[in-house]
Amino acid sequence: AKSSGKGRAHWYSNAMDEGRTLRSEIEAELRQALRQGDIKVAYQPIVRSDSHAIICVEALARWTSPTRGVIGPDVFIPIAEQSGLIIELGQHVLREACLAVKDWNIDLAVNISPIQFRHPGLVADILFVLKETGFSASRLELEITEGSLIENSAVAQSMISALREEGIRISLDDFGTGYASIGYLRKFQLDKIKIDKSFTDRIERDRETAMITTAIIALGSALNLPITAEGVETADQAAMLRIAGCRQFQGWLFGKPLFADALEAAFFSKTAA
Ligand code: C2E
Ligand code: CA
Ligand code: CA
Ligand code: CA
Repeated sequence: AKSSGKGRAHWYSNAMDEGRTLRSEIEAELRQALRQGDIKVAYQPIVRSDSHAIICVEALARWTSPTRGVIGPDVFIPIAEQSGLIIELGQHVLREACLAVKDWNIDLAVNISPIQFRHPGLVADILFVLKETGFSASRLELEITEGSLIENSAVAQSMISALREEGIRISLDDFGTGYASIGYLRKFQLDKIKIDKSFTDRIERDRETAMITTAIIALGSALNLPITAEGVETADQAAMLRIAGCRQFQGWLFGKPLFADALEAAFFSKTAA
């Protein structure tokens, strides 16, 4: 028993070491990828629920490593957050996105990690990129999660008002997945709520989810907060959400994330009539 216990401890520590090594390898590669401009940006349409017209795109970071192939943001964003690289990555994504979206006549949504949100230089960094690229603050929407709100709500509140004073809008992303409650929607000055994909996924199959989703949308209307439903994949989901009063959709039904040239060709090509 003693030796097997020892063996197990040994195995665990080996596995942990390997995890750490892999992480630090990926971190080093990510740092290099950022320097070389290998972090790309894909854009996913956000459409009006009535006309299906594109009103906004969400910028989503993409990385294809020369040695490992595609690495998803679910892997490299947490590594960027833990290493501090997220500040540089966020600035890079914002700059690329402002340049790409500038000539399309729509808004731009960019994800802001809680680490960025806690960074005192955030407002100055964003204003710098807006000035540099000539992108209007009134077309920019920052997607934050409740993780940005819970830790220090006084700091979060002042960050939100500093950004809103510049004309930048704030969306609450992934709503319904954590602790964020109705109280949050009143406490913080938000401009939009994004209902998490997990609700959209179950809305057709699960009556309770359908009822909760309808209630969230009604709450948004009561607070004058537009709601975007994420992860809309089927026409039935879209119909149910629209009837419930949801004004904006994002999901594969309306468009997957695409690189700028592909999105432009598909939606914004200026070919003469
Ligand atoms: P998110 O902000 O919730 O972004 C929405 C995710 O849902 C994206 O995944 C998008 O590709 C995916 N999605 C959208 N519609 C559908 C659909 O109809 N079906 C399915 N199956 N998926 C759909 P993605 O691009 O893999 O990004 C994952 C997460 O990584 C994002 O979740 C966001 O939290 C983070 N992320 C991505 N880019 C950035 C970035 O530039 N900065 C920061 N801080 N986070 C980012
Ligand atoms: Ca988002
Ligand atoms: Ca989301
Ligand atoms: Ca998400």
